[in-house]
Amino acid sequence: TKWVYTFGDGAAEGRAGDRNLLGGKGANLAEMCSLGLPVPPGFTITTEACNFYYANGNGHPEELAGQVKAALAEVGRIAGRRFGDPEKLLLVSVRSGGRASMPGMMDTVLNLGLNDVTVEALARDSGDARFAYDSYRRFIQMYSDVVLGLDHELFEEILEEEKARLGYELDTEFSAGQWQEVIALYKDRVEEELGKPFPQDPDEQLWGAIGAVFSSWMNARAITYRRLHDIPESWGTAVNVQAMVFGNMGETSATGVAFTRNPSTGEKALYGEFLVNAQGEDVVAGIRTPQNITEKARIAAGSDRPSLQKLMPEAFASFVDICERLERHYRDMQDLEFTIERGKLWMLQTRSGKRTAKAALKMAADMANEGLISRDEAVLRIDPASLDQLLHPTIDPKAERNVIGTGLPASPGAATGEIVFSSHEAEEARKAGRKVILVRVETSPEDIHGMHAAEGILTTRGGMTSHAAVVARGMGKPCVSGAGSLRVDYRAGTLVAMGHTLKGGDVVTIDGGTGQVLKGAVAMLQPELSGDFAAIMEWADKARRMKVRTNAETPADARMARSFGAEGIGLCRTEHMFFDGDRIVAMREMILAEDEKGRRAALAKLLPMQRSDFVELFEIMAGLPVTIRLLDPPLHEFLPKTEKEFEEVAAVLNVPADKLRHRTEALHEFNPMLGHRGCRLAVSYPEIAEMQTRAIFEAAVEAGRKTGSPVVPEIMVPLVGLKKELDYVKARIDAVAKSVIEEAGVSVDYLTGTMIELPRAAIRAHVIAETAEFFSFGTNDLTQTTFGISRDDAAPFLETYRQKGIIDQDPFVSIDVDGVGELVAMAAEKGRSTRPGIKLGICGEHGGDPASIRFCEKVGLDYVSCSPFRVPIARLAAAQAAV
Ligand code: ADP
Ligand code: MG
Ligand code: MG
Repeated sequence: TKWVYTFGDGAAEGRAGDRNLLGGKGANLAEMCSLGLPVPPGFTITTEACNFYYANGNGHPEELAGQVKAALAEVGRIAGRRFGDPEKLLLVSVRSGGRASMPGMMDTVLNLGLNDVTVEALARDSGDARFAYDSYRRFIQMYSDVVLGLDHELFEEILEEEKARLGYELDTEFSAGQWQEVIALYKDRVEEELGKPFPQDPDEQLWGAIGAVFSSWMNARAITYRRLHDIPESWGTAVNVQAMVFGNMGETSATGVAFTRNPSTGEKALYGEFLVNAQGEDVVAGIRTPQNITEKARIAAGSDRPSLQKLMPEAFASFVDICERLERHYRDMQDLEFTIERGKLWMLQTRSGKRTAKAALKMAADMANEGLISRDEAVLRIDPASLDQLLHPTIDPKAERNVIGTGLPASPGAATGEIVFSSHEAEEARKAGRKVILVRVETSPEDIHGMHAAEGILTTRGGMTSHAAVVARGMGKPCVSGAGSLRVDYRAGTLVAMGHTLKGGDVVTIDGGTGQVLKGAVAMLQPELSGDFAAIMEWADKARRMKVRTNAETPADARMARSFGAEGIGLCRTEHMFFDGDRIVAMREMILAEDEKGRRAALAKLLPMQRSDFVELFEIMAGLPVTIRLLDPPLHEFLPKTEKEFEEVAAVLNVPADKLRHRTEALHEFNPMLGHRGCRLAVSYPEIAEMQTRAIFEAAVEAGRKTGSPVVPEIMVPLVGLKKELDYVKARIDAVAKSVIEEAGVSVDYLTGTMIELPRAAIRAHVIAETAEFFSFGTNDLTQTTFGISRDDAAPFLETYRQKGIIDQDPFVSIDVDGVGELVAMAAEKGRSTRPGIKLGICGEHGGDPASIRFCEKVGLDYVSCSPFRVPIARLAAAQAAV
């Protein structure tokens, strides 16, 4: 088996398409090499070797050692050096890299191959002893951390003490001799901790690092990240071993990261940061505050520190050139890592860059307009779920801003919350239902869970590419990073800002769009859905086949959904209309009435209210289809609970409160979700369905007159299991419809249909379709009844199931394609066999879930219906499913 793929010198054994085998980093390094870009030579050990490692008790395949040795020799040949040879010293980096990029999740070791002897050679060779010892101390620290499992704090402590002793502020101030002293202290510390000296043998170092990369695939951070991003464990990571180039060789050397377009706004402008005389992750780690790459960005940031463009014009020019080439080649915005060694540019990584939802839209729209990609591709470029971010509020420009500090606008959107200083507190507060802003000096991968729990993130150190910034953008959370004027004191639990001392629990607002930190809560604005958003949505609407409707019963929701592009109402839950003000009293009166006469009297009060609701909905939907579901929940949900409520109803009904209490107890059910609800109510109390039908038709007549466009109501009977249930209710509906139409003297077209939400209904769909003119799949109840689990109670054990690998995801969030989905597919087919062209839709949570929407497209449903805020997501997901 071939376990090792080499790259270098304008050629490579792998390509960009080999991401599964070589990981994203390795595949793209190979691709860049083949494009003839300046990439230090190296080789990639495949993800299959990682899988072998775990399948064989952390062992390597037999052939691996030989293949690594050969590849290392090849790298040396290209570089004109030899690993472990002090005469012609070759140093390497050992880098992880899975199929999906997992930023900061796994660790890189730089300068590998250094030891007490070779460091002298490096000093001699480079003519720069400071550089050589700086590299060695970095190596000891990284290797000890990543491979030997010693906390990097151990070394930070030593370094901080030395800095304090020497009165230095920056690492770059150390001289060669001073680094040698630090190295001696580092080595002592290693020996103290481990009882043996720091490994001197380069081969031992190399294999230690390779093993550590494989092991890091199973570290807690990586496992958490994979869980949050649905990355399967079976993918494994590759290992990249690459000849070192040095950004820490003095003032003509540098290291940096860049994006070919602005990842925050999407603007088509090279965007990035670098540090002179620095190595590896210095930029990302926020150790020093980095400088801007372009003059334009420097000026925009108001920085007085020179840009790369100014400082190293030649390296800058070739970098710009490479950025353009890579963007054209990959046809997407690239996220790049580079190093300049004594004026010469080296590319160390490229990948499609993460971006905010806003930037994604702008880039996709721009690239389509530039002709770089097609419109369908532009539609596919947007993660539907990310649109959520755009629906986030921003600070009202008219609101007063009590600014107490400013950092970098690291991730857009605004958020308000109580200050917490640790991820643990953030999580606890979230559980208690409180909104918090996570305030840290800087964040690390250990903070992911806290960042998830927080409304927004504020750090006092680090740039636009710091951990906090990158992760927050990925999560769509507002983030302000590097707010250097603020001081966090973890021990005292305070945030000091321009004379204000804030404590944990004090409220702040952060504005991820400007980088401002504000005291207190501030008025927010809903976002504008025009521009790029509108353009992409228009392209999506052209591409999709399924209609997108909304679940709405209030005029406010219906209007909002229309503004988000809903093409009708797929589910109007009439029961929600009965909770307001006087209505609930009339409703209770109806439920607790002794006989039909009493019920009819109460229903007569509800009729005009219900009618006016429908008129308004019909008007808002202006001729678009509106599906109205007859009363569905068990009646006891409406019953009085408090003393006052009982007395209120008792007074209206003119009966003693005690008697009402009796009736209420009689309505108690042990298992109400499987109880007297849905069409069962309409069978027991047909007068309820009749009142609702009358309200619907009278409203249709009225709204039709007012708007001039005829209303075609779709009346939906819930929880049908037997055709005869539907027949019974439909007869009532038809009778009422007939009489309203006769009274009004205008004809109203309408459809009567049913929810398919019981397995029996799915199984008997061909028979039910004899009566039903449409089906709407109520997949919430269908999931409950198919699995036999209650969605109100299942969350805790479903989570256990997920952790134990019994289910992949919550079937209430994403449709269970194999089980529930099979029933849906079957019912759709059976329905069509009886009534070709029967209208088919889905309502319930799944109608707004992209994966479920893909399934709906496959089954050929006519529409999906979801909550108003998910309408744009559904439009996009439906388009992606169709192209
Ligand atoms: P991550 O996946 O965390 O970004 P990388 O493997 O990309 O880790 O390494 C992080 C950084 O280390 C790179 O951005 C680069 O600056 C530095 N680095 C890695 N390999 C080399 C190398 N061969 N020469 C110089 N710097 C390197
Ligand atoms: Mg890293
Ligand atoms: Mg990297």
